[in-house]
Amino acid sequence: MINFNEPPYTGNELKYMKESVENSKICGDGPFTKKCNKWLEDRFNAQKVMLTTSGTSALEMAMLLCDLKEGDEVILPSFTFSSTATAAVLTKATLVFVDIRPDTMNIDEKKIEAAITDRTKVIITVHYAGVACEMDTIMDIAKRHNLKVVEDAAQGVMSTYKGKALGTIGDFGCYSFHETKNYSMGEGGAIVINNPEYNERAEIIREKGTNRAKFFRGQVDKYTWVDYGSSYFPSDLNAAYLWAQLEKADEINQDRLNSWNYYYNNLKELEDKGLIELPVVPKECEHNAHMFYIKLKNLQERTRFIKYMKENGVLTVFHYIPLHSAPAGEKFGRFDSKDEFTTNESERLVRLPMYYSLDDKDREKTVGLVRKYYGE
Ligand SMILES: *Cc1c(COP(=O)(O)O)cnc(C)c1O
Repeated sequence: MINFNEPPYTGNELKYMKESVENSKICGDGPFTKKCNKWLEDRFNAQKVMLTTSGTSALEMAMLLCDLKEGDEVILPSFTFSSTATAAVLTKATLVFVDIRPDTMNIDEKKIEAAITDRTKVIITVHYAGVACEMDTIMDIAKRHNLKVVEDAAQGVMSTYKGKALGTIGDFGCYSFHETKNYSMGEGGAIVINNPEYNERAEIIREKGTNRAKFFRGQVDKYTWVDYGSSYFPSDLNAAYLWAQLEKADEINQDRLNSWNYYYNNLKELEDKGLIELPVVPKECEHNAHMFYIKLKNLQERTRFIKYMKENGVLTVFHYIPLHSAPAGEKFGRFDSKDEFTTNESERLVRLPMYYSLDDKDREKTVGLVRKYYGE
C-alpha cells in the first residue's frame, strides 16, 4: 500500500534528541528551540519567531495578541482546518466565513470587503497547499479598515509571495510542524511576530502569563505573573527533531517539488482533455509542494476514484468538510453572502500521496493508476 503521508525523517533527528537528553535540557526554550527560532528568523527574514506546541497554539497566541473580545468578528475561509476557527472561538469572537477562489482554494480577496462590519477586527488568511493568498489586496483592505491580518501559514513554511516568506506579511504568521506538514517535530508549530511592539506580550502569553523571558535576559530582577497566558512552548526534545529537518530544509523542499512536478507534468494531459483539474499557482507565488491535489467532476466521481485507488494499493484522501456546515461552525459563525465555490470545490478535491522521499516507483504507480482510471 502506498501511504498518503509519511512523517519526514532525514537522519540526524535521534542524534540531536540524544544530545538534548544528555545535556539535561529537555524543557522548553532550550538550545534547540533557540536554534530553530533563529534559523526561521534568518531564513524568512522575520522580525521574531517563537516555536510553539502546535500550529493551533500559534493561532491561539495570535488571536490573544489581537485582543479579541466577545462580539468581535473574524473573517476567514470556511474551507480550512478546524484550528483556524477554534483559535478565534476561544476568544469568544464570531466567525464570518468568506467564500474561496476556485483556482487556488484560498479566500477570495474580492469577497472580503463586503463581509466587513464595524465589529470586524481580524482577517485570517489560510495559504492553502502552501500557495499564498492574494496578500497585497488583503493587506490593503486591512489597512483601509484598520484590521489585523493573521496568516495561517501552517502549510506554507518555505513558500513565498512576491519573494516574501509566508507568515511574514501580515501582523502575525502561524506555522505548523505536525507530522503531516513539510517539516515536523511530531506536534509543534511557530508564531511569527512581524511588529516588534508585540514581542514582549507574545513572550508573556507563551510562558504562562509571566515575564520570565525578561528575567532570563536580566531585564527584571524577579519574575512574576503579569498577564493572561498559557503554556505554548514545546519541549526541546521536539525542537531537536525539528532542527535535523531545518538543516536539510532545501533538500526536503526540492524533493517534494520534484514529486509535485512529476505529478503535474504527467497528469497535464488529463487536464488538457478536460477530465480533471490540476492545482493553480499564481505567478506571484512560489510554493513548497505541501500537497498535490486534483479536482474531479463531482462528489460521486471522487468517491469512486478514492475506492478505485485504494483497491489498487494507493491511499488518497479528501478534506475539508467546510466549517460553516459543521455543527460548531453553525453555532459560532455565519457564511457571508453566497457559498458559490466553497462546498462545490471541496467536494471535488482529492489529494495524492505526497511526502519527503516519496519513491519514484510509487509516484509512477500513482500516476499510472489515475490515467488508467480515465481509460488512458
Ligand atoms: C495543520 C494545520 C493547522 C494546525 O496545525 P497543528 O500543528 O496540527 O495544530 C492549522 N491550520 C491549517 C490550515 C493546517 O493545515
